[in-house]
Amino acid sequence: MDPRELWQAALGEIELSISRANFITWFRSTDINLFKDGVVFISTPNGFTKEWLENKYNKLILKALRNISPEIRDVQFIIGAKAQFKPLPVRRKKETPKAIAKDQLRFEESTVDKETNLNNRYSFDNFVVGSFNELAQAAGRAISKSLGTLYNPLFIYGGVGLGKTHLLQAIGNEIIKKNASKKVKYLSSEKYTTELVDAISKKGMESFKEKYRKIDALIIDDIQFIGGKEKTQEEFFHTFNTLHQQNKQIVLSSDRPPKAISTLTERLRSRFEGGMIADITPPDFETRLAIIKAKAQEKSFNVADDILEQIANYIQTNIRELEGALNRVIATCEMTNSVPTLDTTNKILARIVPVSKKITNFKNIIKAVAEFYDINANELLNRSRKKEIVHPRQVAMYLIREELNSSYPFIGEKLGGRDHTTAMYAYDKINKRVENSNSFKQEISLIKERIYS
Ligand code: ADP
Ligand code: MG
Repeated sequence: MDPRELWQAALGEIELSISRANFITWFRSTDINLFKDGVVFISTPNGFTKEWLENKYNKLILKALRNISPEIRDVQFIIGAKAQFKPLPVRRKKETPKAIAKDQLRFEESTVDKETNLNNRYSFDNFVVGSFNELAQAAGRAISKSLGTLYNPLFIYGGVGLGKTHLLQAIGNEIIKKNASKKVKYLSSEKYTTELVDAISKKGMESFKEKYRKIDALIIDDIQFIGGKEKTQEEFFHTFNTLHQQNKQIVLSSDRPPKAISTLTERLRSRFEGGMIADITPPDFETRLAIIKAKAQEKSFNVADDILEQIANYIQTNIRELEGALNRVIATCEMTNSVPTLDTTNKILARIVPVSKKITNFKNIIKAVAEFYDINANELLNRSRKKEIVHPRQVAMYLIREELNSSYPFIGEKLGGRDHTTAMYAYDKINKRVENSNSFKQEISLIKERIYS
């Protein structure tokens, strides 16, 4: 097999088993450099990425590669070196559907606009509408026609992978399509917080305020993450009011309705509820089938209906997973140069475990933290005061609070027999670091992945 294809196929697998954010952060700029004597050499853009891949993703990468080509013995990472293989051909208009599909399966460089943070791959044109998202979609279209005057804010909520980000981005793109002079800004609430913290520490509050108050449409994704962050909520409240008073459009998304974001200040909650609230629910079978048909068509790949039905039947909640399963079927057929059959599809699906309902428990968290930091789980629980245990234990305390909402006395007692102030201190400390450091945030989300994998 062509080494490039090997790496693309492995990336396809890896993408399915980690979060999109992590995939983009760590894998986007990787390439295969050399494949020799059973050893795969992966080039990485910098030392930091190299280290992360080596330390955190080595096993996953090796497993993905071996799944495709069992004779692979080892994987090594190098910095910067250019690939020694010819790049896959760039797609030209007249290529066969198959070649197009192959090309599209490659991880595309995202085309995100630096000003607006909008990605042009998300539009209303490729957003399938069904009863599950009809209201949210209609409201989104409506506000992009009459900015700031119809529903303000528009608050969209729904579970993971149901198209919130797609819809928010489509709204932004549509606004600009209708009027290129409009100032649109899309960002996640976490990015907003980071910018705010930055502005405070660099004494740049004036320009921060300026910047946000000049916007015609402010679109904030995953607003639930400002829960519990007082300073961010306070500043956002003022930004919100300024924009709202000038009839500037605000669009928000969340994984739950405003009243269920427990650590949201009352005044923000009532602002969020002051416009239109629209939910997106999991799509039913027919809609899942329609979505996956559209995706197969987008990729110009001919997949028989019974196969699409099989996939739509198996993956029940998450549209991202639906797309991932389809990609996997297409990739496998590409590699083996065959047409997809029910049999191969079933085999591929059997290897995908839907993450529909993510629940966890105390034991899982302890295990994940211990594995991540490569320490013994018992040391987290006993009274050990070893230096290398202190940080992992604080992380475990933080995660138990975040994921299980356990009480501080319980957490302190369970982890090293401390009192509640130790647990509270640990939580605050780790929480601050998560808010202030992107690389640390990555560290935590990697551990979360382990917890739920
Ligand atoms: P969320 O932000 O709710 O977690 P995303 O917007 O990231 O979900 O959607 C996950 C994937 O599913 C994306 O690739 C997106 O393009 C696709 N998707 C979601 N909803 C639809 C839809 N209605 N039609 C087509 N594709 C969709
Ligand atoms: Mg999203």
